[in-house]
Formats: sequence, structure tokens, C-alpha cells
Amino acid sequence: MARQLDGKTAIVTGATSGIGLAIAEGLAAEGATVVINGLGTQQAIAEAVERIQNRSPDGGVHHREVDMRNPDEIQAYMNAVEEKHGAIDILVNNAGIQHVDQVEDFPREKWDDIIAANLSAVFHATAAVLPGMKVRDFGRIINIASVHGLVASLNKAAYVSAKHGVVDLTKVTALENAERNVTCNAICPGWVFTPLVEAQIEKIAQTEGISVSDASDTLLREKEPTLRFTKAEEIAAAVLFLLSAAGANHDRQLSYIGWRMDCAMIFRRTGC
Ligand code: NAD
Repeated sequence: MARQLDGKTAIVTGATSGIGLAIAEGLAAEGATVVINGLGTQQAIAEAVERIQNRSPDGGVHHREVDMRNPDEIQAYMNAVEEKHGAIDILVNNAGIQHVDQVEDFPREKWDDIIAANLSAVFHATAAVLPGMKVRDFGRIINIASVHGLVASLNKAAYVSAKHGVVDLTKVTALENAERNVTCNAICPGWVFTPLVEAQIEKIAQTEGISVSDASDTLLREKEPTLRFTKAEEIAAAVLFLLSAAGANHDRQLSYIGWRMDCAMIFRRTGC
């Protein structure tokens, strides 16, 4: 039976855990050849590749070592994938990091790292894949931004700045390609239970002297009226929609889909 992404090659950045891993699994299950990167121990990387592989009927899963803070490594990565697989049809810019501190206490190197990994990497990867997508007149770029690309929170200066940048970079990319079969969308999730969020819960528990479970409730009550974490698989399902025929014009339409009061998950309208 034909699958949605048969014959397509997809890159998912930061897919050794959390949301990226779920997205890579979803794309593999739909028949895409999936190339991932992401940090972690050899064992963690091998386990992630195995999980994706288990969902892939054709076994087309590859991991490459790339530091997404480094523009030269990103360009070399994209070149190598295009050369090996003939095309990059889908790019999911997902890799991201977080650090929480007040502006005046925010370590300068953390600011630089977050802007590099969460924002500049999206620009460099997008710029590297667009020429090929334009020539083939097919491309799908999906940026995993955040609710913090739409609203702010205390103590997240770099993350909020980077994610707002990602949302606006998405709009520019969508506009520049509006007359081609190349779309660019951002997904802005609320809280998703992943290692990135676990670390924040643990920090709240420590600084406020409360249990991890109470810290988790505190985090949810702050911005999530449903009082539950979104599952990484739910973000993967949103990605698959944007890759489907039904999502092919989505970045030019005037509708919001999946709107929730707190912007828990929004397909950000782009291109206008
Ligand atoms: P995670 O920590 O589970 O995964 C992050 C991934 O990025 C990992 O694979 C990690 O190795 C990779 N990565 C980090 N720095 C890298 C670098 N320099 N080079 C290459 N890879 C690197 O986190 P997650 O929660 O799954 O986050 C994924 C994306 O979703 C991030 O962009 C994050 O900002 C965004 N997001 C997460 C949430 C949430 O609640 N978890 C909400 C909104 C948006």
C-alpha cells in the first residue's frame, strides 16, 4: 500500500530525543528516508536510530554528527545528504536548547548558544536546502517554534527571542516561496513532556523546595489550561498533516487550525 511519504527524503534536526524523535518515527512510518542528527551518548543515539528504524518499512534511517550551532557544519550536512540521497524534500528544524535565568544573570555564552541552536540554525539549514527545493519545485520546511514564539515568560530571554525570530523567519520564507510548491510552516507547541521540560521542572522543584509533581503542576497552571502536557506524538501528527496534500497550501491560507486559548498548539499562519 502506498504511504504518504514514499520516495521522499527528510531531515529532522535534534531527533535523538523528545519531539524530534517522535517526528522522525512518524515520517519513517510513512515511508520517508529519514536523516537525523542530535547529541547524546553513542548508546542513546543508537537507541534513537533503532526506534525510528523499527517504524520504517524500508529501513532508510541515518544519523549524522552535526553541531547545529555551527553554520559550516550545517551547510556540509545538507550538501552531504543531498549528494547521497539526491534531494532533501522535507526539512524539520527541531533541534533546540533552553536555559532559565533573569536577564542580568543570564550567562552570555548561554545566550549565544541558544540563539545559535534555536534561531540561526533554522536560517542556515533553510538557506542550504532552498536552492534544491526551488529547482525541483518541491519542498516542505517545518519549524518547531514554541508558544514562546508568540508570548513571553519570565527568565527565558534567549529562548523567547529565538522562538519569536523563528516564527518571523517562517513567515519570510513562506512569502518568498509563495508561488512555488515550497511551503514553510511553524508549529508552536505549549508544554510537551520531554527531557527539555523535565530539566525545567526539576529546577522549579529545587528552587521552590517542592516535589517534582507539584513543580509539574505549577508549570502547567502557568500557561496550559488543559493542565496536561501535549504528547510528542501529537506534534508528529501535526507535522504529518502539514506534509499531506491537505496541508499543501496551508502556509498561505487565512485560517488558524488547532487554536487554543493559550496557543498550546497553533499552526502559525504565515505568509501575510
Ligand atoms: P529535547 O531536549 O528532548 O530534544 C532536543 C534535541 O535537540 C535533542 O536531540 C538534542 O540532542 C538536540 N540538540 C540540542 N542542541 C543541539 C546541537 N547544538 N546540535 C545538534 N542537536 C542538538 O527537547 P524537546 O522538548 O524535544 O525540544 C525539541 C524542540 O521543540 C526544541 O526546538 C524546543 O524548543 C521545542 N519545543 C519544546 C517544547 C516542550 O515543551 N518540550 C515546547 C515548545 C517547543
